[in-house]
Formats: sequence, C-alpha cells, structure tokens
Amino acid sequence: MSGICGNVLVTGSNRGLGLELVRQLAESPSPPLQIFAGCRDPNGPRAQDLRELAQKHQNIIIIKLDTSSEASISEASKAIGPKLKDGCLNLLINNAGVNIPGALADTGEKEMVDVFVTNVVGPMLIAKEFLPYLQKAASQSVQHTGMSCRKSAVINVSTLLSSIEKCHETFTMAPMYPYRASKAALNMLTRCLAEDFKKDGILVMALHPGWVKTDMGGPQAPLLVVDSAKGMLKVISSLTEKDTGTLLDWEGKSIPW
Ligand code: NDP
Repeated sequence: MSGICGNVLVTGSNRGLGLELVRQLAESPSPPLQIFAGCRDPNGPRAQDLRELAQKHQNIIIIKLDTSSEASISEASKAIGPKLKDGCLNLLINNAGVNIPGALADTGEKEMVDVFVTNVVGPMLIAKEFLPYLQKAASQSVQHTGMSCRKSAVINVSTLLSSIEKCHETFTMAPMYPYRASKAALNMLTRCLAEDFKKDGILVMALHPGWVKTDMGGPQAPLLVVDSAKGMLKVISSLTEKDTGTLLDWEGKSIPW
C-alpha cells in the first residue's frame, strides 16, 4: 500500500496518529526495512500498545526519544545510527506534538515556551541531529531520481490552525494561542529546512492530518485515526520535487500559509 520503503523514524509513536502511522507502515504489503518508533517512555504504561505492536513486527524498533530534550534527541541519534541499515534514514516524520487549552487569559510565558519547545524546537533539533543519515540516504539512492520519501524526506506534522490566512475562519472554534503560534513557527522551520536541504536532495514539507479523533483531537473530531493515517501515508508516498516546502492536508490539498 504505502510505497514507503527504506528506513523510517516516527516521533511520538506510542499513541494517536504516531502509533497508527507505525501500525500501517508495518502492516503494509511492502513495509519499510526498519521503522524506528520514537517514544519518551518506552517501558511505561502509555507505550503498552506500541510494545505489543513491536512484538508482532520485527522491523519496528522502539527508541527512547523525548523530543523536548536536546540530550534525549542526541542519545536517540547515537542509538539509531549504528542500527540503521547502510547508515541511511529515508523518512523522518516529526509527529510528536502538544496542545493546551490556550485562550489568552490562560496563556503565560510557561505555556508558550513549553508548547514551543515540543512543537518547534524539537523538530528543528531532530532535523539537525539526523541530517547526516538523511544526507546519506539521499546520496546513496541511485534508483530514485528527483526528491521523494523513498529517497530522503522530512515530514513535519502541522495543522490547519497554523494557517495565518485561515485564522479568521478557524480562531473562534479553537482560540489556542501557544498551539497556533508554535505550528506557524513549525511551518517557517519547514520552509527554511526545505530551502537548506534542497542541495542535498532532501524533501521537506508540512502535513495537516485533518481533525482527528485522538486524545488531542477529542471525541467530537470527524475523522478516524485510521483514515487520517491512511491519507497521510498516501500523500507522503506520492510527494515529488514540486512538493518540497509546501503545506498540504491528509488528502493532498494545499493549505495557504
Ligand atoms: P496525541 O495527543 O493523541 O498524541 C501525541 C503524541 O505525541 C503522543 O505519542 C505523545 O507521547 C507524543 N509526545 C508529546 N510530547 C512529546 C515529547 N516531548 N517527546 C516525545 N513524544 C511526545 O496527538 P495526535 O496523535 O492527535 O497528534 C499528532 C500530531 O498531529 C501532533 O503534532 C498534532 O499537533 C498534530 N495534529 C493533530 C490533529 C488532531 O485533530 N488530532 C489536528 C492537526 C494536527 P506521550 O504519550 O508520552 O505524551
């Protein structure tokens, strides 16, 4: 199904969209060689479902990775490096993210900083730390021309709520200052990385999963996690050079910045 091969890293993969992305990748008829499933507490109760999934699929490797900690990101990179087949990482999905209620009255310095650390600083540090493996994947991929996830790609999981142009339509139903501002910053990070990594042939884009029934999306969300993840993987597998530096949704539709 997915057409995603090689070696993949998904952050925040113990529940919600991250877990479903790992599940669908592992269950695909032509699964990736290795799926590194990042999770901040691999032995804790919140990783039970991920551990059970990993027991069924030998290509799932659970990695301790707290994306809000520079030390943890560095340790995860050191742990993954020697395990990577040929030292190549073909696809990095920066999925881990946090949200808090975030109306103006509830938002102080701590709320802003905490959300920024996970939603922006983490993906930036991870892209920097794993760049050598992404570069190796891009340079070693002789059979694939142009940019693609089969060669080397970074997907930053963003949101419709990051769109500055759409804010007048979406603000009233979701007045979340830290979350919106952090994901708009993630979009800029995406554009910067896309420009920076062009010379290496690494595709970088931002992807909105839809409004999805997860702990974050809540029970009233219209989209099932299984359908969102399916759509996301379809979009990811069809990305080409023209998609680097874009913001798309789970159906492949463009979202204005
Ligand atoms: P959930 O809250 O259901 O899951 C979030 C995941 O991120 C968990 O696995 C959580 O791990 C992990 N995580 C959070 N902080 C860290 C950290 N510091 N280090 C490692 N892992 C961390 O959210 P979703 O699955 O719904 O969201 C996934 C992504 O999709 C997010 O980036 C979110 O912003 C985005 N998104 C979601 C939408 C929705 O409707 N659901 C809509 C638009 C975007 P733990 O269990 O340890 O907390």
